[in-house]
Amino acid sequence: MEKNYRAELTGVFGKPVDENPTGVMEEAAYREKGLNFRYLNIKVEPEDLGTAMAAVRAFGMKGINLTIPHKVEVLKYLDELSEAAGIIGAVNTVVNRDGRLWGENTDGKGFVTSLKNEGISLNGKRIVILGAGGAARAIGVECALAGAWKVTIVNRSRERGETLAALIGEKTPAESVYVPWEGAYSVEPETDILINATCIGLYPDINGKPAVDYDTVKPQMTVCDVVFNPPETPFLREAARRGARTVNGLGMLANQGALNFTLWTGQEAPVEVMEETLRREFGL
Ligand code: NDP
Repeated sequence: MEKNYRAELTGVFGKPVDENPTGVMEEAAYREKGLNFRYLNIKVEPEDLGTAMAAVRAFGMKGINLTIPHKVEVLKYLDELSEAAGIIGAVNTVVNRDGRLWGENTDGKGFVTSLKNEGISLNGKRIVILGAGGAARAIGVECALAGAWKVTIVNRSRERGETLAALIGEKTPAESVYVPWEGAYSVEPETDILINATCIGLYPDINGKPAVDYDTVKPQMTVCDVVFNPPETPFLREAARRGARTVNGLGMLANQGALNFTLWTGQEAPVEVMEETLRREFGL
């Protein structure tokens, strides 16, 4: 019998990467599908990114994830980009297609899929996003491409907020406005979906809560958090107390991981196994 002891390689380049749980979920999915694939957390300094991307080709890696601080910088080492990654201007997933490196951004797509799995459509919806960083950019652009009617960006720093609203307005069919974040934000009553895309509430800031007038959150709204560690944040608790439907950040994380799995292996991802692995990892 012919044996193959060579594993296919995937992983993440970033700094820090020690606490990144993506590999646990990807490797659980590889095992579930009987694939001899590995996922490695690899610490890469900013000045070493070029060498690391050359190694993706040299090692014949199937692909790689990028996290802080490499998501924008990596663009200069890629041969092609997806439409969304081109608009967002950041890449979190690279696929090695016979030595040609193709960049995609699965963060926003993972978010859109997590809503779809809850039976929530974005078509014609009014979305409010708190934050204008990497996660907010990906979510804003993908929600707009998925049919949202209006995307309101609420951000502390004016420049970042205005830039994202202008980007969505120019590059997608959705309308987009910037609202300065001064004091507690009052949610407009016609809002369908309110999203925290800031890092407020992320471990160790587990009691942190975005400055929102929570009494303006209404029962007909869906309220989502990108923070997944811990998954039940004070932001979601306040929204649930007002009767809103809530969606935590674990679904986004699992679904972006599932999209990566499919891009790298060509197979359908065992999403339930991935979600279950994450829940176990977080002791839920
Ligand atoms: P960035 O650093 O790019 O952006 C952070 C954003 O949060 C900025 O808009 C910043 O505003 C805002 N912000 C931070 N602190 C405050 C504050 N005290 N008050 C108001 N605004 C604040 O981070 P990312 O976008 O990369 O990550 C954001 C979150 O998304 C993280 O918690 C990350 O874990 C999560 N994430 C979750 C994923 C998932 O799959 N669930 C995937 C990717 C990210 P300003 O511009 O004014 O500085």
